[in-house]
Amino acid sequence: MASDVNPFESLQEQIDDAAAYSDVDDDVLERFKRPERVLETTLSVELDDGSLGTFEAYRSQFNGDRGPYKGGIRYHPNVTRDEVKALSGWMAYKTAVVNIPYGGGKGGIALDPAEYSTTELERITRAYATELRPLVGPDEDVPAPDVNTGQREMNWIKGTYETLENTTAPGVVTGKAIESGGSQGRLEATGRSVTLAAREAFSYLGTGLEDATVAVQGYGNAGSIAAHLLEGEGARVVAVSDSSGAIYDEDGLDAGAAKDHKAETGSVAGYDDCEEYSNDELLTMDVDLLVPAALENAIDADLAEDVEADVIVEAANGPLTPDADDVLTDRDVYVLPDVLANAGGVTVSYFEWVQNRQRFYWSEERVNDELETVIVDAFDDLTDAFEERDLPNFRTAAYAVGLRRIVDAYEQSGN
Ligand code: NAD
Repeated sequence: MASDVNPFESLQEQIDDAAAYSDVDDDVLERFKRPERVLETTLSVELDDGSLGTFEAYRSQFNGDRGPYKGGIRYHPNVTRDEVKALSGWMAYKTAVVNIPYGGGKGGIALDPAEYSTTELERITRAYATELRPLVGPDEDVPAPDVNTGQREMNWIKGTYETLENTTAPGVVTGKAIESGGSQGRLEATGRSVTLAAREAFSYLGTGLEDATVAVQGYGNAGSIAAHLLEGEGARVVAVSDSSGAIYDEDGLDAGAAKDHKAETGSVAGYDDCEEYSNDELLTMDVDLLVPAALENAIDADLAEDVEADVIVEAANGPLTPDADDVLTDRDVYVLPDVLANAGGVTVSYFEWVQNRQRFYWSEERVNDELETVIVDAFDDLTDAFEERDLPNFRTAAYAVGLRRIVDAYEQSGN
């Protein structure tokens, strides 16, 4: 992390920035700045050597006025209560920005999964799922993958829930394997929405993605798929990075081959004799588009002064600190915020949940078409608000749109 800014404070600042341009009473606003409920629990799990491991685990339910709480589960040593609270809030605003009928939630376990065997991770995940059982359900709270979790963990959670509830309930989690009720297109969905957001932004700004140079920070699910799909739009991916460092090729690298290299060797380093750079150097490269796709707080105010990209499309959640945002707004760098750009994951999660409830499954083409409609409509709503209300940047516009929808749902419910 480039900065130790508390992400929950960042979220609250972002909401306050939007509220300054919105007609919401201060007392009502307070309801939408903090989670409704946070589970904090210690998991005690037997490890392979017979010793007892203890793990701090959380689930934050931020807001449920627009539907069931929705959001991923992260396994990372830096998971904290405040990080989970922030991530759950970003989910609540994200589902409102793309106008799907969910609230926001997020969970996490403070651990480095690389230090545990598959059987240990399964026991830890099932212990967590047991703690979650009273809170989750297809109509209550629907977890999904996030950093270091995927189909495998979702299948374990689903299996534990179904055993304890003596039912079949594929809609209790999303991001499942296709064979367990997952959706076509879910794995690619976040990278796809990042690409759609970039395409719309470049078109709005009067240029296209053809030949645009791109740097991608973080080469996991979101970053590597965005890089690949951006190539498909004619962009030139010149630099990518992961936690081991960055690689650069001014002629453009082959995003798919770089992904295969990472899958084989564990990192992008060493791919195809590319030049090697530090992570911070990637963030300040002179490119048309920068895609931060790692973790929070990657760019703080100091680094923002050196950013050379014209446009930033946030694949990660919260990659810019609020101070960095201010610097970039002053410097006329356009930032397409996470709550729109990476909303493909939760949108296709919604499609997965709809399919689970109908027990009727869609083609990949239908999923991708419906996703495109949601992201393009959300982009248009955002730019309409940006222009009509003369807002300072796209993030404030997105939060203003989201806040209005959440407040309207709350007020219409007669509370
Ligand atoms: P992932 O674990 O698949 O990938 C994360 C990548 O970031 C890895 O390649 C890792 O090496 C790299 N990384 C970590 N620290 C780094 C650093 N300091 N510099 C450069 N690279 C670094 O995770 P993911 O699912 O791709 O998620 C990435 C971000 O996207 C997170 O903020 C997550 O919340 C967000 N996101 C993901 C999804 C999804 O569907 N996967 C949806 C919405 C948002």
